[in-house]
Amino acid sequence: MKRKYQLIDDSVVVVIGSGAGGGTLANELAQKGIDVVCLEAGARLGFEDIENDPPLMEQRMGWNDKRKGENVFLCKTVGGTTMRFTAIAARLADFEFKALSTYGKMEDTSLIDWPITLQDLEPYYDKAEDNMGVSGTHGTPPSFKHSNYKVMEHMAKKVGYKHVTNSGMAINSVARDGRPSCMQIGFCLTGCKIGAKWSTMYSDIPKAEATGNFELRTEVMATKINHNKAGKVTGVVYVDKNGVKHEQSARAVAVAGNAVETARLLLNSASSQYPDGLGNASGHVGRNYMRHAMSSACLSCQSLFIFIVEHNKPGTLKMNVFMMLNVVFRVATLLKLEPVILVYSLLLYLRGVKI
Ligand SMILES: Cc1cc2nc3c(=O)[nH]c(=O)nc-3n(C[C@H](O)[C@H](O)[C@H](O)COP(=O)(O)OP(=O)(O)OC[C@H]3O[C@@H](n4cnc5c(N)ncnc54)[C@H](O)[C@@H]3O)c2cc1C
Ligand code: SF4
Repeated sequence: MKRKYQLIDDSVVVVIGSGAGGGTLANELAQKGIDVVCLEAGARLGFEDIENDPPLMEQRMGWNDKRKGENVFLCKTVGGTTMRFTAIAARLADFEFKALSTYGKMEDTSLIDWPITLQDLEPYYDKAEDNMGVSGTHGTPPSFKHSNYKVMEHMAKKVGYKHVTNSGMAINSVARDGRPSCMQIGFCLTGCKIGAKWSTMYSDIPKAEATGNFELRTEVMATKINHNKAGKVTGVVYVDKNGVKHEQSARAVAVAGNAVETARLLLNSASSQYPDGLGNASGHVGRNYMRHAMSSACLSCQSLFIFIVEHNKPGTLKMNVFMMLNVVFRVATLLKLEPVILVYSLLLYLRGVKI
């Protein structure tokens, strides 16, 4: 049952953003009987709007508002960046909570140890993995072993890795929680057409709506959080798609607008009492932005993708040779004929395909 709250209702919790953080929190609160109004800047898409067409989906769900600097590839839609994320849901390792102790002080950084440990977070990891349906946890099998993975696993073991896995994806490896298992369509970044990949858009948000304790307002942009003299929040000012300003009263406010917009909103909510913005006693809000750091290891196994890019000229002999080799490769993978896979890789290498 969908609910509608009045603007003057100050008993509600206002959640800003309906993505990974906001969508999850809103559902958790609504399940506990707490009234929630969720303000979401983007529009609500349905499965019928999801197409395996990256540029089109960038228009439909990307955050494309004009900004100084580069586009940070986040989403502006119900579900937020869970619509686009790759769904890797591995836990942090113990030492990653202790960056300062592990790596030591570094110049021009504000590196610190987290005030919490892996043990503190474990119960929450458990809950989140169960909620998202992370493969290889809570009795679910690992993800499907596709050809790329099989080559990767084979080579990783060859160079000495003992534990190689494709578990830890927030993508259903079996049908679960009203969502089907992955069909390996491969367009996870444009939104999963069948809902196998977890997204708050089709999991947590509809569950919250079903409680009758939740209202989602879409295409509204929160611009300021107000507070009283005691420093307690009183409401959120937002602008709807027609440019009309409103203020929703609130007993508590949660900001979950991802890195850029969360910082912007807190800084824009500066007042005479908090001239540096809200929640900014440290002076760190809006600083230390780190973009999707990752490390990767490359094995000397030739990439099919690069082969396609370099040789994909329909109708040419090269294309036909590629198609033929590709069929051989797939059959070899299915039949677990590792030597054939290695010969195939060697062939690519001899043809001068670089990684
Ligand atoms: C390409 C890509 C791949 C990724 N892969 C992974 C991965 O494999 N594993 C992983 O753990 N993480 C991954 N991430 C990161 C992950 O998606 C984010 O960390 C996560 O979505 C952040 O959650 P959030 O709730 O802070 O923001 P979001 O999920 O982005 O949600 C924020 C929402 O708030 C709305 N909003 C913002 N400002 C306002 C405002 N002022 N008023 C109203 N609404 C507002 C936005 O429209 C958006 O819907 C990936 C990210 C990208 C871009
Ligand atoms: S079915 Fe699987 S591969 Fe396809 S988009 Fe969904 S999660 Fe990604």
